[in-house]
Amino acid sequence: MERLVALCKRRGFIFQCSEIYGGINGFWDYGPLGVELKNNLRDAWWDVMVRNPPPGPDGQPVDIVGLDCSIISHPRVWEASGHVGGFADPMQTCRQCKKLFRADHVAESLAESEWVAALLELCEPGAVPNTWIPRRGELERWAKTRGRKLAPGLAIVREPGLVAGIAEDEHDAPALLTIVSSPGPTISEVRPPCPVCGGDLTEPRQFNLMFETFVGAVRDDEAKAYLRPETAQGMFYNFKNVLDSTRVKVPFGICQVGRSFRNEVTPRNYIFRSREFEQMELEFFVHPSEADTWYQYWRQARYDWWCGLGLAGRNLRLRDHDQDELAHYAKDSGGCCDVEYAFPFSGEKGFTELEGIAYRSNYDLTQHQRVSGVKLEYFDAERNERYLPHVIEPAAGLTRGVLAVLCEAYTVDETRPSPELMRFHPRLAPVKAGVFPLVNKEGMPEVAERIYQDLRRRVGPCQYDAKQSIGKRYARMDEAGTPFCVTVDGQTLTDQTVTVRDRDTGSQVRVASDQVVGWVAGRVRGDDGIG
Ligand code: ATP
Repeated sequence: MERLVALCKRRGFIFQCSEIYGGINGFWDYGPLGVELKNNLRDAWWDVMVRNPPPGPDGQPVDIVGLDCSIISHPRVWEASGHVGGFADPMQTCRQCKKLFRADHVAESLAESEWVAALLELCEPGAVPNTWIPRRGELERWAKTRGRKLAPGLAIVREPGLVAGIAEDEHDAPALLTIVSSPGPTISEVRPPCPVCGGDLTEPRQFNLMFETFVGAVRDDEAKAYLRPETAQGMFYNFKNVLDSTRVKVPFGICQVGRSFRNEVTPRNYIFRSREFEQMELEFFVHPSEADTWYQYWRQARYDWWCGLGLAGRNLRLRDHDQDELAHYAKDSGGCCDVEYAFPFSGEKGFTELEGIAYRSNYDLTQHQRVSGVKLEYFDAERNERYLPHVIEPAAGLTRGVLAVLCEAYTVDETRPSPELMRFHPRLAPVKAGVFPLVNKEGMPEVAERIYQDLRRRVGPCQYDAKQSIGKRYARMDEAGTPFCVTVDGQTLTDQTVTVRDRDTGSQVRVASDQVVGWVAGRVRGDDGIG
């Protein structure tokens, strides 16, 4: 991750938001290459969801329309959706360093904590695997020296005398951490310590994740509004508008791509969990009797789409939720699954969520009908039946998708002159081709400039580079993930061909200079169903 993050900054994919002021945790800016990559992923999704969805389970065309809703809506939307009452994470605060943690992330953060690693090194491994025997002498020395810097909040560091009460027995890691953070019989609260400083964590308390703001001049409860924590609700509260203004019939879908905001307690893992991010969501409305068929359809279609982007094989999986993970509305029905990706930080589980596909029954429409008092039933002329459609929701993270694409593309090949390259799918690559005159004279720049102008117009962003050695120019393009480099050389002037170098293999072919634009366009466009 560290090397990838460094490359992303160096080459202008992702910057820390307001970096010159020290940054702000959980917010990121997309640089010149990053914004192209993000927009390409968004467009591929929009193409395959709205403009040209794959045929439905019966082979018939699928109807999906788009929306772009406001980020701030009537606050009762969030009452109806359940976010005002329930969109909360249990959170703990460190009494010493005042840092906040999501209760369900503490164990994971402790496993990555610097002071915990240092502490375990002071212990002897036990006879049983993954157990440790603390050595009182070493512990006390550490508590008075290095521990003061690494874990100033830890009980035995604040009071080294407590070490005397620690038994030199075998303990597993959680037990050991409890002992060093609350040794002796006088301490009744037994909780894992703070992953940052070793201090005492408070009881978990519910923390609402919605960002609040005020609409208008007066800042009172009446004026309170929220930045949306998901894009989905816009599709539900506009359900009737879409029905009344278009000719869609159930089954059909409504899609939206846009920003969402969650005041995450512990934004982490680069752009994976941020406080401002983008989502790509579909609400697909169906007759209740067809919900299972459509759930299975979207489950597969969404997995296949991510595979088509190159996230295939061992790094991607579809995981059905266990019964105890299911949201309340999905308990009695079809189910939920996640498309998961093996991010480098996925830890023991190996995979983390990229997209969730949920069967939401008619929960949301029922709620909005009840809270707004407006009838949202659909009249199905073919069935001669009035009902609230059920919903299948594939909800993907656009910015989280960008991270998966970056992780998948990042390749180190020490046999190359410049070992780091980004193997993006050509459809997603921010720069489609580099165009170089081999030398900046002898008529080469003129031909190269003409090809460059043509490629930009017909294929997309390209870069013209006439400086430095050809190897350095290739290396720059490899780091940006540019799939093709077109070089005009001495031979071009005699036989009107150019070399095209392939990023991944480094191999070169000669292509007629008047056909090279079509050659690159065909390979960038592809036809692999990813949009
Ligand atoms: P998580 O369990 O990771 O918090 P979630 O289950 O709450 O996610 P959903 O509400 O289902 O997520 O949102 C749909 C998608 O939006 C997720 O699959 C993820 O890709 C993306 N997403 C959710 N929260 C964040 C975030 N804080 N930062 C970036 N992407 C996010």
